[in-house]
Amino acid sequence: MGSTLWDSVGQTPLLRIASLSELTGCEILGKAEFMNPGGSIKDRAAKGMIRDAEARGLLKKGSTIVEGTAGNTGIGLAVLGIERGYRVVVTMPDNQATEKYTYLEAMGVDVRKVPVVPFANPGHFYHQAKTLAEQHGWFWANQFENPSNGDFHYETTGQELWTQTGGRVDVLTASVGTGGTLGGVSRALKEKNPSVEVVLLDPPGSGLYCHVTEGKVEGSGSSITEGIGIMRLTENFKRARVDRALRITDQQTIEMLYHLARHDGLVVGTSAALNVRGAWELAKAYRGSGKRIVTFLCDHGSRYTSKVFNPSFLESKGLVPDELPA
Ligand code: PMP
Repeated sequence: MGSTLWDSVGQTPLLRIASLSELTGCEILGKAEFMNPGGSIKDRAAKGMIRDAEARGLLKKGSTIVEGTAGNTGIGLAVLGIERGYRVVVTMPDNQATEKYTYLEAMGVDVRKVPVVPFANPGHFYHQAKTLAEQHGWFWANQFENPSNGDFHYETTGQELWTQTGGRVDVLTASVGTGGTLGGVSRALKEKNPSVEVVLLDPPGSGLYCHVTEGKVEGSGSSITEGIGIMRLTENFKRARVDRALRITDQQTIEMLYHLARHDGLVVGTSAALNVRGAWELAKAYRGSGKRIVTFLCDHGSRYTSKVFNPSFLESKGLVPDELPA
């Protein structure tokens, strides 16, 4: 009796966000990815990459997995990897929410914090993970370029959404970290129905909005969101089928984060709040149409309380937890 963490990944509820659906006359639906066993959408990427590496004979009991991560992929690899007998080492930028380091350390993960530097710098967490893998003969998961990340979303997240909506999705909208989610799910839904509209959401400091609208990866500024936004085109993102893009500011993200907590009892992380803000902006444009707009509640707000529910943090960033504008 009893099931494994491995078998508990996916099959997450598709929640109707009542307050926003009623305000707009659209159906705004959020896939509750915080209900995965490691608490985020990245459990899917972790399972996809471990499953593929096992099939290729790259992992066996006692192996070490190393990954560069904003935290959630590391948590997913540990939650699933411990159960299967692997050791996990992560390289992580040193500006992430403290809750994620604490969670990883509680599981005995070897966490190597590195300064935040541009991708071209060999000290970037991505290159540091690759270097450790080469030095020690460890398995490097490489979520950005490893197609088994997006393939797992194609196979599970995309099919679940299709089934849960009875095949009626009008708009898919999401932000991008590695592009695994948008790459896999946009392919799955467009294959079923090419007229599904796919809208990429981008935080400040990310280059993908410019890529979609002007064909060049450019952006400026920075964001309090974690796990999303990127200044290069990854293999997982290159497979996404995107129609257009929207930019979402940190102030817009914070307003939605507090709105969801106060009006829907949903305490979500920053990328989820950004995703729902994007879905709401689209719903306002399609007001009264009854369109079904789906997005992802990537992780839970409890992972970020030291930041987004900390008034002095918000103040230091010039952010105000205002009600949504009418
Ligand atoms: N939200 C959060 C909280 C994440 O950690 C990530 C992944 N880094 C994403 C969204 C983006 O997902 P993906 O990597 O599939 O693009």
